[in-house]
Amino acid sequence: MSRDRNWMYMKRTTSEGLFDPTFQHHVNFFLDYAYANAPNIQRELIDGVEVSKIRCPCGKCQIHRFKKRFEVVGDLFKKGFMDNYKAQVMRT
Ligand SMILES: [Zn+2]
Repeated sequence: MSRDRNWMYMKRTTSEGLFDPTFQHHVNFFLDYAYANAPNIQRELIDGVEVSKIRCPCGKCQIHRFKKRFEVVGDLFKKGFMDNYKAQVMRT
């Protein structure tokens, strides 16, 4: 995936207040990568279905909470990425 992570801090919403398609595209790409490669993915059985959770990198959770993908998407839309997440990713 692209090393350029400036998109994380781009505007997340369109002028109509909708999820910006470009940001959404980057988030989907990022999450595909994260769920396949994150060093710690939490797996949980919910109603017999295995659900994967990653540490949510949003401004509120700040990678302290494990969340399901749709929850992470919602968080990123509402809160954006945590400050300095870019720097943290670069270090690993
Ligand atoms: Zn979050």
